[in-house]
Amino acid sequence: MATSAEIRQQFLDFFTSKGHQVVPSAPIVVKNDPTLLFTNAGMNQFKDYFLGNSKPAAKRVADTQKCLRVSGKHNDLEEVGVDTYHHTMFEMLGNWSFGDYFKAEAIAWSWELLTEVYKIPKDRLYVTIFEGDAAEKLDRDDEAYNEWKKWIPAGRILNGNKKDNFWEMGDTGPCGPCSEIHVDCRSDEERSKVDGSTLINKDNPQVIEIWNNVFMQFNRLKDKRLEPLPEKHVDTGMGFERLVRVIQQKQSNYDTDVFTGTIAATAQITGKQYDFSDSKEAVAFRVIADHIRAIAFTIADGQLPSNTGAGYVIRRILRRAVRYYYSYLDYKQPLLHQLMPLLAGQFETVFPELKQQLGFVSKVVREEEEAFLRTLEKGLKRIDDIVKTASNGNKQLSGKETFELYDTYGFPFDLTQLIAAENKLTVNEEDFKAEMQQQKDRSRAATAIDTEDWVVVNDESATEFVGYDSLDIKTKVLKYRKV
Ligand code: ATP
Ligand code: MG
Ligand code: MG
Ligand code: MG
Repeated sequence: MATSAEIRQQFLDFFTSKGHQVVPSAPIVVKNDPTLLFTNAGMNQFKDYFLGNSKPAAKRVADTQKCLRVSGKHNDLEEVGVDTYHHTMFEMLGNWSFGDYFKAEAIAWSWELLTEVYKIPKDRLYVTIFEGDAAEKLDRDDEAYNEWKKWIPAGRILNGNKKDNFWEMGDTGPCGPCSEIHVDCRSDEERSKVDGSTLINKDNPQVIEIWNNVFMQFNRLKDKRLEPLPEKHVDTGMGFERLVRVIQQKQSNYDTDVFTGTIAATAQITGKQYDFSDSKEAVAFRVIADHIRAIAFTIADGQLPSNTGAGYVIRRILRRAVRYYYSYLDYKQPLLHQLMPLLAGQFETVFPELKQQLGFVSKVVREEEEAFLRTLEKGLKRIDDIVKTASNGNKQLSGKETFELYDTYGFPFDLTQLIAAENKLTVNEEDFKAEMQQQKDRSRAATAIDTEDWVVVNDESATEFVGYDSLDIKTKVLKYRKV
C-alpha cells in the first residue's frame, strides 16, 4: 500500500511531468493582512498573478499548501473529530495555470492522475459542474461538461449551484465556475442498494469531495458586474488527507498513516485504547491528532498563542485539545508537547520548519498546556455547578457565567459553548460579548473576525517569516524578511 509520503510525491511528480514547477508551501500564518489570519486555500499566495499585479516566474505551478480553516468564512472546527474528513490544518495539493492551459487539460489531467496513477476505480468517481445562474446571466458550464463527457458517463456529471460551483475570491476580483470531484467510498454492497446518481458528500459521509478545479475566467467589478478576464487561469485544490484515505481504502482520514502514528502514541502515553467509534474517547483521540498539527505548524510559522487575533485562535485550539485529553482520556498532565518529536519526524522532508524549531515549539506548547491545566480543574468544577443550576430551569448559560469562565479560568467562549452543548444547554453569546466589551482592557479576540478567501495586500510590505533568533522564549526574536 502506498504511504502518504509516496502519494504526495506522486502528485508533485505527475504535475512535474506535465510541465509544472513545484514550489514550496507558503507559511500557514498570514502576516500584514488584517482580514486574513491564516492561509485557507492553496491559491492565497498566488493572488497577485490572477489579478495581473505581478507576473509569475512559471506559468504552471504545483505544490502542497498548509491550510487552516478555523476562522472567518471557512470554519470547519465543529466537524473536526466528529466527521471523518474535515480537519483544522490540512494539506491542499494544487496545480495552477497562470494564463496557460485551461479546462481541457485540467480536467483530463485530474482524470489521468486519479484513475491511472492512483488507480481509483472509475465507477466510484462523480463530478459536479456549474449549472448556471439566471440572475448573473451565466450559462451552465457546458465547456466543463463536454470535457468531462470524454471520460465519465453523463449520469455521474451532476449540476451544482452558485454556492458550491462558482468560486469567488471575495467581493471583487477574479472568479469563475468550478468543478468538484467526489469519490464514493461506500462498500459494494451498500452501493448496490441505492442509486448513486444524486449522491455527493452532503448526503452521505462515505461520498467525499476530494478535489476542486476552479476555472477563473471573470473579474467581479465593484458594481457587481462580471467582465471576462483577459487571461484565463486554473486553480485547483485537493485535500491530501482525503486523497490518502481513498487510496489506502480506509473508512476515515484518521485511519491513514497521516494520523495513525499520533493516535498510537497518544494511546501509549494515556494508556487508553483507540477505537473507530463515535464515543467521546474516540472523538478525543481524533481531535488531539488533528489539533496538534494546527498548533505545531502555526507556531513553527511564527504565530505564538496569545490573547488576541491569530494568537488567540491558536490558544483556543490548544485549550480545546487539552480539555479533550483531560476530560475524556483522563490524562492530567501536559500531553501535546510529548507528541511533537513524532510529528516533526513525520513531516521532516515536506515541512522541515517544524523539526528545525522543535525545541522551541515544544517548549511553547508545554508552557501553554501547563498554564491551562492550572485552572482547568477548577473551571470544570465551576461549569459543572453552573450546568446543574442551569438545567434546573434556565437552559442557557448567561453572559456573566461564560465571561467568568473566560476571565477567571481561561475558558475560551467556544470551549464553554462546546461543554454546554454536551449538556444540552446553550450559551448567551450576545451577553458574553457585552461583558467582554465592558472589559475593554481585556482581549478583544473572542469576537469573530470575518474573512474572505483572501484579500489583496500591499505587495511591498509583505514579509516572510524566516525563523526564530533564539530558542529561549523570553529573548526570542521573530525574524521576517521582505519578499
Ligand atoms: P467541503 O465541502 O468538504 O467542506 P470545500 O468545498 O469547502 O470542502 P474547497 O474550498 O473546495 O473545499 O477546497 C478544496 C479541497 O480541499 C476540497 O475538495 C477538500 O478535498 C479539501 N478540504 C477542504 N476543507 C477541508 C478540511 N477542513 N479538511 C480537510 N480537507 C479539506
Ligand atoms: Mg467546506
Ligand atoms: Mg464543497
Ligand atoms: Mg469545494
